[in-house]
Amino acid sequence: LQNFSPTHLAIDLIMPSLDGIGVIRKLSEIDIDVSVIIVSGADPRVLDAARRSANEHGLRVAGVLRKPFRRKELVAALTVDPDARDRLVSSGPGHEGYKSALEYKIQEAFERDLIKIALQPKVSLLDGKLVGFEALARWTGENGLPIEPDQFVPAVESAGLIGRLTEVVLEKSLTWANGCGNHKNFSIAINVSALSLQTDHILQMIDGMCEEYKFSPDRLIVEITESEAVSHHTDALDVITQLRLRKIDLSIDDFGVGYSSLVQLARLPFSELKIDRRFIAELTTSHEAHAIVVAILGMARGLGLRTIAEGIEDLETYNTLQALGCDSAQGFFIGRPMSPEAASRWIE
Ligand code: C2E
Ligand code: MG
Ligand code: MG
Repeated sequence: LQNFSPTHLAIDLIMPSLDGIGVIRKLSEIDIDVSVIIVSGADPRVLDAARRSANEHGLRVAGVLRKPFRRKELVAALTVDPDARDRLVSSGPGHEGYKSALEYKIQEAFERDLIKIALQPKVSLLDGKLVGFEALARWTGENGLPIEPDQFVPAVESAGLIGRLTEVVLEKSLTWANGCGNHKNFSIAINVSALSLQTDHILQMIDGMCEEYKFSPDRLIVEITESEAVSHHTDALDVITQLRLRKIDLSIDDFGVGYSSLVQLARLPFSELKIDRRFIAELTTSHEAHAIVVAILGMARGLGLRTIAEGIEDLETYNTLQALGCDSAQGFFIGRPMSPEAASRWIE
């Protein structure tokens, strides 16, 4: 490495005779200026832990790629501005000031208002009518290629900017909803990181936005992923409860793939359960997926939770969910995430 001096080094986490974490540790001990790209087929949580480990060892992480990855993901990792020289500001390994190149890019994206939203419709499975939109963050890199939320949201979190992301997404969503005039009753769902539920800043932010845009809080849905919601369960309980007190709906996103126990779930005051799209994708072809969805729907009914399925890509899946009594539906079959302008046309 010292002779070759590459700009980037892709490290697989699982290799025949050594593991990537060991390599990361070794790299931090030698004096080498290289951007690391972590590549693995491992679970996303493992990848995330590896990224954190590399950060803490003072390495510059240009990207984290889950195998199989797409070409554009690799391109995005390779084109993160190498001049955002960031092997660190003050001090190096493990210090607060450390930011990855991606984190610098994100900070800049906020400053230049480059974070946009896409809106994806949800319909009632009772009558097919529009019930609301989910707002999803969108970021297009300088090369014109989109950077996936799954890639930048963790970096936004580690850059300490997650509150800002929620605020930007909410503000753009409410600005749009406000301009929609006649169609005043659909809901807006935003994704909130469990990190944001550690303090009550989010409550003041939401209060202020709803006030400013004359948006009734009972039209707002906050989506939190199951595993996160439960792992930060005690800290989050207060804020979750305070959101419910404002009549804001709370949805458990990606339900079924996390690690929560039923007891924990029943204790948190959620109002909606959103079945993970991995089950929905296989609903009509896998006996197991079908059984799981039936069980989830039964459990939700028992707990008095509304149900929504995400990732519906065809009519057969749509019909099956309708027959199983799921309340609402979201997915490419109904509508892809789209720009606010396109969403306005979609409503018409
Ligand atoms: P999510 O909240 O579960 O969002 C649904 C994801 O499924 C979106 O991916 C959407 O584009 C995709 N999707 C929708 N319908 C279909 C379908 O029929 N088939 C398939 N294959 N996919 C479908 P996206 O936009 O890439 O977002 C990924 C995740 O990033 C989101 O998952 C959410 O957890 C997170 N995210 C997005 N925006 C934000 C944000 O503003 N804040 C936070 N904290 N997280 C966000
Ligand atoms: Mg969501
Ligand atoms: Mg989801």
